Amino acid sequence: MKIEDFDQELQKVLLPHHKPEMIYECIGCGNSYPLDRFLYTCPSCRSLLRLKDLAFDLLKDCPGVRWREIFDKRRLLNIDPLKGIFLFHELVLPVVPLEDIVYLGEGHTPIVNVNKGLAELVGMDFSIKYDGLNPSASFKDRGMATAVSFINHFAKSKGREQILGICASTGDTSAAAALYLAYLDHEKVKSVVLLPQGKVTPQQLSQPLGSGATVIEIPGVFDDCMKIVEELAETYDVVLLNSKNPVRIAGQKSYSYEIAQQLDYQTDDLVVIVPIGNAGNITAVMEGFLDLYNLGIIAGLPYVIGVQSFHADPVYRWHRDGVYKPVKVSPSVAQAAMIGDPVSFPKVNKLVTEHFRDKFSVVHVTEQDIIEWMLKTNRHGHVVCTQGGETVAGLKEAVRSGIVGKHDRVVVDSTSHQLKFAGFQQKYFDNSFPDEYEIKPDRSMSNAPVQLPASAGQIAKHLGLKERKHP
Ligand SMILES: *Cc1c(COP(=O)(O)O)cnc(C)c1O
Ligand SMILES: [Zn+2]
Repeated sequence: MKIEDFDQELQKVLLPHHKPEMIYECIGCGNSYPLDRFLYTCPSCRSLLRLKDLAFDLLKDCPGVRWREIFDKRRLLNIDPLKGIFLFHELVLPVVPLEDIVYLGEGHTPIVNVNKGLAELVGMDFSIKYDGLNPSASFKDRGMATAVSFINHFAKSKGREQILGICASTGDTSAAAALYLAYLDHEKVKSVVLLPQGKVTPQQLSQPLGSGATVIEIPGVFDDCMKIVEELAETYDVVLLNSKNPVRIAGQKSYSYEIAQQLDYQTDDLVVIVPIGNAGNITAVMEGFLDLYNLGIIAGLPYVIGVQSFHADPVYRWHRDGVYKPVKVSPSVAQAAMIGDPVSFPKVNKLVTEHFRDKFSVVHVTEQDIIEWMLKTNRHGHVVCTQGGETVAGLKEAVRSGIVGKHDRVVVDSTSHQLKFAGFQQKYFDNSFPDEYEIKPDRSMSNAPVQLPASAGQIAKHLGLKERKHP
């Protein structure tokens, strides 16, 4: 629809006109810094930063019910920059004007109600939000849309000569960064990704290569790559695109805004289950719901459950024991979440303490459960990745331990696409997992192609078909 197609009163608010006053705010010492530069940690105390809009309270002049109407009607507008996560412009990154927004088709991923057979296996009905249906096939596109729109805006308004975007990755961050940076002017913007050698899937490796990024592989695990890009970002003039960059978290909040919108803003009796790796995602999910709550757009916060594998579970242990210690990771099929010292942990700690104390839990699940719940879920008509299998396994565990009641409404997050993790499925079918994974396949769940001659008769015989009687 065109803007003229709406009534006069709506026309005034349908296009964003909020004037933000955005700053970086340190979550440690509380110092603030203007959002006119790239900053990842507090220059005075080294703690993490978050984005804050000092003019946020102006948004409260508009009642929650009106905001719902604005976001719902705005979806009908045929205006590219507002079609993705910037539909929620005022809450996402209002410093970027519409003309600088990079929209590559991200966001508004479907929430699909699970098949009856799967609901019976898990012990309750639930839905899955398919974030694998983003352009680079993971939720990382949400944060990259804000980070790269910000770079685009910055490059245009400051007339800066060269920008080099860099990230460490468990596979999906690099795919998203390389894709979004490739959309910008190649003369001005370069992209570099650092991967732990042999620890991302072939599909994930092919993505930044295909987008033309410089791909650097180093020995070690993700945490080692992260240390190196942090050092590079401290010392050299590069833009860090990991979720330590608070501009990424801003975009990832859209996940929560969408859940609210898709469920008619009924979130107070809702449970949202997400995997935890570097803990940027779960931070954004909590921050997103908090924005909506503060503006009266939703009446209550949902219950948030994080899921980790036994092989990488520092946040689970913190929640259980009350002390945080990094862990040494073991190989995990939920490879995108295989992180022993999550960068955003201090943010999770603060959000839980201040806002989600009675609305937060963490469960941990085995590697065997993760891969088998992925397979079972997909066998019932869904497309979840291993991290999606992890959240379904997490739901099953939360039902077993009584955290989730049978009548709760539950949305689980499938953070990327099944196809990125096809190799793990194959290893399960072939029984070829190295011992460290601790996965023993159930033969009845394996599947393989059948070779037959090119003959209808032979195929019919193999399938046990009976010939039709009538002509
Ligand atoms: C990055 C990623 C995660 C983990 O998210 P964090 O923000 O690092 O906690 C989970 N699943 C997939 C598919 C990912 O790419
Ligand atoms: Zn500080």
